[in-house]
Amino acid sequence: MRGLVVRNTGFWYTVKTDDGQLVDSKVKGNFRLKGIRSTNPVAVGDWVHIDINREGTAFITEIEDRKNYIIRKSQNLSKQSHIIAANLDQAMLVITVAHPQTSTTFIDRFLASAEAYSVPVVLVFNKTDLLTDEERHYQDMMVTLYDNIGYPCHQVSALTGDGIDGLRTLLSGKVTLLSGNSGVGKSTLLNLLIPGTEARVADISEAHDTGMHTTTFSEMVPLPDNNGYVVDTPGIKGFGTFNMEPEEITSYFPEIFKFSQDCRFANCTHTHEPGCAVIEAVRNHYIAESRYESYLGMLKDKDESKYREAY
Ligand code: GDP
Ligand code: ZN
Repeated sequence: MRGLVVRNTGFWYTVKTDDGQLVDSKVKGNFRLKGIRSTNPVAVGDWVHIDINREGTAFITEIEDRKNYIIRKSQNLSKQSHIIAANLDQAMLVITVAHPQTSTTFIDRFLASAEAYSVPVVLVFNKTDLLTDEERHYQDMMVTLYDNIGYPCHQVSALTGDGIDGLRTLLSGKVTLLSGNSGVGKSTLLNLLIPGTEARVADISEAHDTGMHTTTFSEMVPLPDNNGYVVDTPGIKGFGTFNMEPEEITSYFPEIFKFSQDCRFANCTHTHEPGCAVIEAVRNHYIAESRYESYLGMLKDKDESKYREAY
């Protein structure tokens, strides 16, 4: 029987079958996917085939090809990674200009990682009700900056409900990863979009008290009328990228990549080289300084091999 993995807690996967049953499933011990060393061979968002046994639980026998997936390096020093989610249509990165302020470094790293995984990102500026004039001005600049690069921006307030209808349209019929630093209002937004999620969060906390590991919990929360899903991964702020060459990092910053085509040297790192079209574009304000700084930061991390655990 075919189904969608909607929940992953440790070794257990909840599979929603095509006829709507929720079946607790496991993978056989020797089940491995070629080319990926991860603690979980299956992730939420995966389409799988299961064999249901007499007790009503099941074994996952097959995983269908993924359109994309995002992974996170494990905290421990083993080389294993954790697959956070598969088959995402988009990621919604919730940010706040104030209370707390999300750094451009964090935003740009997230965007670059998402480019690497081919997951489109929408930026949601929350807590707009709290902004001072100065903060509003700063937010307007950020919106212009990211809109121009090609990342759609939404300005909302989970408190007043401002802009929430626009979010509903955005999420409709799609599988969306919910991300952002803690305190930016992710749970508040989720509860507004999907009433009843607050109780669910309490359930999760209880599960944690019983010793379950936060970073291995992820869930697809269905939107009202089954009109898409929000992938919630409490405990995971973002996803890391690794094994990237400088040219690759360049290609994950779309506007920097565009200018890099005109650099004199094909292997230009855009740090010091003569005839660098990127440095020229930063000087002429065609590329934002904050974006260039984020790019340099990722290059530097690479040198120091820190980028393996980017968040
Ligand atoms: P999370 O850690 O990202 O899930 O953030 P929470 O949803 O727990 O929100 C953190 C705090 O910000 C809570 O006290 C919320 O009530 C508050 N908050 C969330 N959204 C808004 C908003 O749009 N405006 C204001 N003023 N407060 C908000
Ligand atoms: Zn260059």
